[in-house]
Amino acid sequence: MKYYSLHHQSPEVSFETAVVNGLAPDKGLYFPESIRPLSTDFIRQLKSYSHAEIAYEVINQFVGDEIPEAVLKQIAAETVDFDFPLVKISDSVYSLELFHGPTMAFKDVGARFMARCLGYFNREKKNQKVTVLVATSGDTGGAVANGFLGVEGVDVIILYPSGKVSGIQEKQLTTLGQNITALEVAGTFDDCQDMVKRAFMDESLKSVTLTSANSINVARWLPQMFYYFFAVRQLEDLSKSIVFSVPSGNFGNICAGIVASKLGLPIAHFVASTNLNDIVPNYLASGEYKPKPSKPTISNAMDVGNPSNFIRIQQLFGNNFDQLKKHFSAYSFTDAQTREAMKILYEDKGYIADPHGAVGYLGLKKHIQNNADTTGIFLETAHPVKFLEEVEKTLNLKIPIPVQIAAVMHKPKTSIRISTYEELKGVLLGNNVNEESDNPC
Ligand SMILES: *Cc1c(COP(=O)(O)O)cnc(C)c1O
Repeated sequence: MKYYSLHHQSPEVSFETAVVNGLAPDKGLYFPESIRPLSTDFIRQLKSYSHAEIAYEVINQFVGDEIPEAVLKQIAAETVDFDFPLVKISDSVYSLELFHGPTMAFKDVGARFMARCLGYFNREKKNQKVTVLVATSGDTGGAVANGFLGVEGVDVIILYPSGKVSGIQEKQLTTLGQNITALEVAGTFDDCQDMVKRAFMDESLKSVTLTSANSINVARWLPQMFYYFFAVRQLEDLSKSIVFSVPSGNFGNICAGIVASKLGLPIAHFVASTNLNDIVPNYLASGEYKPKPSKPTISNAMDVGNPSNFIRIQQLFGNNFDQLKKHFSAYSFTDAQTREAMKILYEDKGYIADPHGAVGYLGLKKHIQNNADTTGIFLETAHPVKFLEEVEKTLNLKIPIPVQIAAVMHKPKTSIRISTYEELKGVLLGNNVNEESDNPC
């Protein structure tokens, strides 16, 4: 499969190049040159395929012959090696739980797939390590660290703002060791992000092969299609039209869902549910796209002021505003509304949602008000334990700590404290030197 840049100023590239480079040289996001629908038989028979088989069928055309069939099947199987339960909340409302992976956030799927693809592409380039550089405000770091742990030929460097991620999130980043290095930055998430951006532009770092592992990378973005198929596969009644509500920040997840519908999955409508960071809801209402600085909320993985994947969504609807509005809605909710939804879900339905899932539930309810005859699915993107304090305080309960989390809580933290870009550069260059000294020649 070939990928082109959405800025149209760079040449088309292979899947491998798109994965290794992350972003095109013209700074545009990569986009697949074609999307070929899957056979209607496959879609109709979803129940007769395993998760691993579905993942392989869905991703195959986007990789093409760049990874041998047997290897891609293995990668697909390992990527989705946990549960994706669809939990019934009421007659026509379901929660798709995406938090049963190793770090209990949906980002596990994309991170695991990308890590294994990079590992394959680097299998023979032992001296040319790839360094994955990523800034995190919480969830991305843990999923990336876990997904890439032990992958040969790949070093991972994660920058996180000191004192500004939760205790659990910090443990998930700093206790793994091996090829994972955590840099604890004296500053904010924006400072971490700025340092990462500067490193990607820095000519004096040319000797280091850097790539990113956020949802701009096609290998992290596209596997998110899988769980839309897994959800539909679990529905008993397919007579009503299906609507997905996706709690959205950078809009990579919902954008993957739209690709799934282009592959023939019967999804009638998408609802993007956001917190107060309402750039996309405003755009749909006014026709004007105005990025703003992000505002802090209790659903902080969605505190994004300029969603990077929205340009891909526009491309999927042919850059046609009316087409977009026909199949896609977006609503924004306050923290107070989010807490209220968490309480309603718990008190009326006995369901504990995290703040992100609760925002997804709110968007779905709003859509269903005017579209009664639908089956609605909201994505529950993180386990409530990842937002422990907020959930326990709002619902007045204690959440038992799951095994995945308990396993890291007692491990010692290892991080390198930095405060300047020069220090980051030192780590990146030092890393490279170490590799060379490891080489027996
Ligand atoms: C990253 C994240 C989101 C937002 O996903 P996007 O693909 O950036 O829209 C939502 N919820 C949780 C828990 C997340 O970690």
